Amino acid sequence: MPTPDLNTFKLPLLRRLFVLVIAACLPGCHMAQKTFSVDKPRSHRTATDHFEIRSDFRIAKDSPLVLELEELQKQITSALQLPKQRDPVVVYLFSDEQTYRNYMQTTWPTLPARRAYFVGTSRELAVYSFHSETIQEDLRHEFTHGLLHASLNTVPLWLDEGLAEYFEVRGREVGREHSGHVKYLQTARVNGWTPSLYKLEQMSDFQKMTQQDYAESWGWVHFMLHTNEQTRQVLINYLAELETRTVPGKLLPLLEKAAPSYYDGMLSHVSNMSRGIEFASHTTPTR
Ligand SMILES: [Zn+2]
Repeated sequence: MPTPDLNTFKLPLLRRLFVLVIAACLPGCHMAQKTFSVDKPRSHRTATDHFEIRSDFRIAKDSPLVLELEELQKQITSALQLPKQRDPVVVYLFSDEQTYRNYMQTTWPTLPARRAYFVGTSRELAVYSFHSETIQEDLRHEFTHGLLHASLNTVPLWLDEGLAEYFEVRGREVGREHSGHVKYLQTARVNGWTPSLYKLEQMSDFQKMTQQDYAESWGWVHFMLHTNEQTRQVLINYLAELETRTVPGKLLPLLEKAAPSYYDGMLSHVSNMSRGIEFASHTTPTR
């Protein structure tokens, strides 16, 4: 698949010049066979202090979808100690998949088909998706991208995806294991995979990220946030620097310094989570 020419997505400079396109890692499908409107959804608007939803169907301000995103905004800001959000995030929701895919294909023709996208330009931080059974997970992932870029100057690709995968998991508490990633990493480990934050930090093209890269990015984020105060603080301090930096530095040397046994720690972390998930899957329901 050709690398997208990001220059084609440049829009007039307003305040900061950047163009960023990030997608959920699930594959897309077919294109529409008939003509659809290529306009963004605009007939309904639901606004909160931190984001607004433009949709072509009505969404009540107290609907579960809006309340969950509001709660997620608080959780992300608190867990990562993000600075004050500088820009709003706009969520465009189409009522059906075909209209969404037609719009995306017409507007961003070189992008592969995906269920949802975050597109950050100098004009707008926008999330695009459509009404579906998985809308909450899709929006949680893309909204995390939006919020990070609304608060920070820059975010390295691996960390952008690792955090989006981390916060897409639903649950009362932030930080529940992403069972798909845990199982993937544990299987990869048996087949010879070894984690490499160095390699992830070299990546700059989201279309080259594999399922393993997504899983490992999530794994490093989870490891740092849940191992101990030192590893957590490395990530929090690194994010704080991204508020003003235009080019992110590398996180690996900082982690190495604060936690010299980080490599073994990461492997143990994945292994421990894997045991918990296997145990849960063999527990007999009580009713
Ligand atoms: Zn993503």
